[in-house]
Amino acid sequence: MTATPTIAVVGSGPIGSTYARLLLEALPDARVIMFEAGPQVTERPGESVRNITDPDEKARAREKSQGPQAGSFRESLGIPAGAIVEGMFTARQGTHLLDFGGPGSAHAQAFPAAAAATNVGGQGAHWTCAIPRPAFSEKLPFIADDEWEDLVSTAEDLLHKQSAAFSDSPVGAAIRTLLDREFGAELPEGYGVSTLPVAGDPQPDGTMRWAGADTVLGPLIEPGSDTAARFALRDLTLVRRVEHDGTTVRGLVVEDLRTREQSFVEADAVVVAADAFRSPQLLWASGIRPAPLGRYLTEHHVVISTVALDAERMSALVSDEELEAELARRATNPADPVAAVNRIPFSEPDHPYSAQIMYAETPPFPLPADHPAAANRWGYVNMGFGTRKFPRVEDGATFSDDELDYRGMPNFTIDYALTARENAEIAEATERLRRAGQALGAFIAEPRLLPNGSSLHFMGTMRAGTDPATSVADPYSRVWGFENLVVGGNGLIPTANTMNPTLTSIAIAVRGARHLADQLRAAQREDAQVV
Ligand code: FAD
Repeated sequence: MTATPTIAVVGSGPIGSTYARLLLEALPDARVIMFEAGPQVTERPGESVRNITDPDEKARAREKSQGPQAGSFRESLGIPAGAIVEGMFTARQGTHLLDFGGPGSAHAQAFPAAAAATNVGGQGAHWTCAIPRPAFSEKLPFIADDEWEDLVSTAEDLLHKQSAAFSDSPVGAAIRTLLDREFGAELPEGYGVSTLPVAGDPQPDGTMRWAGADTVLGPLIEPGSDTAARFALRDLTLVRRVEHDGTTVRGLVVEDLRTREQSFVEADAVVVAADAFRSPQLLWASGIRPAPLGRYLTEHHVVISTVALDAERMSALVSDEELEAELARRATNPADPVAAVNRIPFSEPDHPYSAQIMYAETPPFPLPADHPAAANRWGYVNMGFGTRKFPRVEDGATFSDDELDYRGMPNFTIDYALTARENAEIAEATERLRRAGQALGAFIAEPRLLPNGSSLHFMGTMRAGTDPATSVADPYSRVWGFENLVVGGNGLIPTANTMNPTLTSIAIAVRGARHLADQLRAAQREDAQVV
């Protein structure tokens, strides 16, 4: 080990950023080099594009993040125009489908809506910033409650958690009251209808500055700080391979996508946080192929609908003046349509669903002018009930030795199917969504199950666990059999989880980073003694 350890981080999303920040803060001599395949799309690295108020600028930042589906930007990355074809599904803004249908596209007919973001900040530049804690069986079984509390609180601090964002919204409060009347008696203490914790900083004008990887990186991107001097972020740099001898990694082979030049970067430890499909893909490409790699894929399935809020029920709870004041406040930031975020959290045994209820003044799709709910003064709610997918080895990505994807990495096929148990929970969640909608107003979009992959919360493909037969990483996120190779991201979550997973993945990363820092510190001490 070198006297000043170098840690190479693959991926600049919230998880890679957590490792960079905690390692540099824990190790005063260390350096971190972070490699990101996509471009920097905001002035401040990794910032949420939702904070961009100019609509054209926002659209440009999103388009640049769309990798093989990034239009003209695609060409500057050297990706052939033929890689884009129109498919049945379109990706959410800022993301690109894994199975986009062109040459080098993944094969994901069973998981068709699966998408990724390729930009500094990763999906964390486009996310909704909902950060609920996992509960009951969603939690990781091998981390004791006391330690978990510390890990998850640290993760919340890194993300600037706000537990009461928009709590002063009278419309948001009225939505909670109506939902509580419908469901309150059925929900256990502490798991009732409530505001959804989000990541960001409330602004004096009542809007939010949404958190991204920039929030997590914190001092690392503040010019002049001690940690900034030891941190380097290289965008448009694709990591092609982790170099290793079977138990120890030596560094990375990286390709500068601007020049197409490849080089070797030596590192004392490597952290792979390149999302739930592309991290296992990189390990596979590097000849690191434990049997569970890419398998046990889960997401939370989502049943959604949109409801126009009922004027009579709302006006019984919110005065005209309060509504006018709320609309005036909202008009100060028309670019951000979300005005209040409520939830019914997962609880066991009776409510194994995670409901997210977003109030917005405009519907998510245009309504014809003569629609009875068009221009509803009370606004709309977009609701989603997340349901469980129980981990099975059959579900997951199979990587190919013969076929390359559009980046020249091993291509993959995703196998995935819902079981009878999962379909039964989806049917039950649909019923509850119907009840929630009826409690709030009139449906303008009937409840429907989104296609597989739509949650964008892909888990299980690099599970952390205590048994190498069914997990890729040990309880400290180290790839089994390797001392200095750590993995991070939603792929580590081994449970059937209905919640938005980023907070959990950051908490897991906090544990991994602390352990790796201890390990590197111990190695430094040993080296000092030898000298
Ligand atoms: P990512 O953020 O995906 O970052 C991985 C990065 O690795 C990417 O930038 C990628 O380009 C890079 N990379 C991949 N391969 C390589 C390579 N070989 N070399 C170099 N770089 C590479 N989660 C929540 O918890 N709450 C929400 O409300 C929520 N809403 C979302 C809404 C949207 C529209 C989207 C898109 C996502 C949402 N998510 C949400 C998911 C959340 O954004 C992710 O959980 C989170 O970003 C995962 O962080 P990560 O660092 O593991 O991966």
